[in-house]
Amino acid sequence: MVEKEEVINKLLNGELKLHQIDKLTSNTREAVDIRRSFMEKISKAHLEHLANYSLNLEEALKRNIENPIGTIQIPVGIAGPLKLDGEHAQGDFYVPLATSEGALVASINRGCSAITEAGGATVRIADDKMTRGPVIKAKSVDDALKIKNWIIKNFKELKNAAEVTTRHGKLLEINPIVVVGRYLYPRFVYKTGDSMGMNMVTIATDNALNLLTHKTGAHVIALSGNMCVDKKPSALNLIEGRGKTLVAEVVIPKEIVEKKLKTTTEAILEVNISKNLIGSAISGSMGFNAQYANMIGALFLATGQDEAHIVEGSLGITTVENIDGNLYFSVTLPDVPLATIGGGTRLETARECLEIMGVYGSGKVGKFAEIVAGTVLAGELSLLGALAAGHLARAHKELGRG
Ligand code: NAP
Repeated sequence: MVEKEEVINKLLNGELKLHQIDKLTSNTREAVDIRRSFMEKISKAHLEHLANYSLNLEEALKRNIENPIGTIQIPVGIAGPLKLDGEHAQGDFYVPLATSEGALVASINRGCSAITEAGGATVRIADDKMTRGPVIKAKSVDDALKIKNWIIKNFKELKNAAEVTTRHGKLLEINPIVVVGRYLYPRFVYKTGDSMGMNMVTIATDNALNLLTHKTGAHVIALSGNMCVDKKPSALNLIEGRGKTLVAEVVIPKEIVEKKLKTTTEAILEVNISKNLIGSAISGSMGFNAQYANMIGALFLATGQDEAHIVEGSLGITTVENIDGNLYFSVTLPDVPLATIGGGTRLETARECLEIMGVYGSGKVGKFAEIVAGTVLAGELSLLGALAAGHLARAHKELGRG
């Protein structure tokens, strides 16, 4: 037990730093309370709701957060049932979505209902990998090309050096290796099991680079040289893929399009061409879709994924076809980093949301990825349907404005 006012005074006069409070007491809740009281004092804000939490912050402090003052709360809604025919996810699923955007859960739910009534969606993982792309400096262009050749010839040695650091991480290839002047950008490509893998591949690549520097005299400028490409939208990830590359498709009979989506296949096809394809092209958008970020964001927040990956996770292209009046609808997401183990998935609320879908822990990431693909399909279908029927503004007025 420490004297709260005394610690706050020391913080106020700069004798103590925020992170040093954790060393004054073995009671994490007490440290969190002191830090929050200090923030109340200097901001004059009343932090009653940040103070109300059930997460084990003592555990979170070991891996997930520094200087905690409490937790935020985001409402979680449920969409479903969503019928899926995947390689890993088969059957009807309920999907937890964390959001403060009124109308979003209702919209995804409507998409789930149309898909399920149509007999379900096909969902697949087309590719699966996690990448780390350092930047290395050589003495000259010739030296850079020599190092590139050394990497190609000694891949097995580098692979061994990377893989001694992890049980689940497997180095698949180092490709491409781009040379710019005397800089080199090798892209290390891994399988990372059920984890998202960024810590895993960072540690593994660091070990491989130690060998490379030792053998070639190369100088590592930075462990990440932005060729990963982590947490940025990029053409490289769009083409090569990163995380899980997901594809989902469904054929909705025209009667269901009319009954559930209150529109026609022709109208949805025209919205997709004029908005998602032409509109995205003229605006230079990298996302040829209407709202992948909404489903990816709500799922990521609910399930403890790294929220900064929403940036790359929402890249992708929607295709629509008219098959004798019936609606063929697909979504393709090339770059969705996902985990059912490690990172934020261990936080209690994330774990509970993963458990709703039966996807917490080892051996579950494939099933989770396919449910993510199906959920994006449902949300995208529903929004294009609403736009085609001219319902978007009305739904937001009713559900988003109370
Ligand atoms: P992690 O929690 O650091 O690593 C996953 C751990 O789970 C490893 O220790 C792994 O052991 C173990 N594991 C047990 N069973 C596993 C299974 N079935 N499949 C895979 N691993 C299993 O998580 P991470 O996924 O590597 O990294 C995610 C974290 O990295 C997030 O918190 C994210 O915010 C953060 N992040 C880091 C960077 C960075 O540059 N370091 C960048 C972006 C994000 P083995 O390794 O022995 O297999």
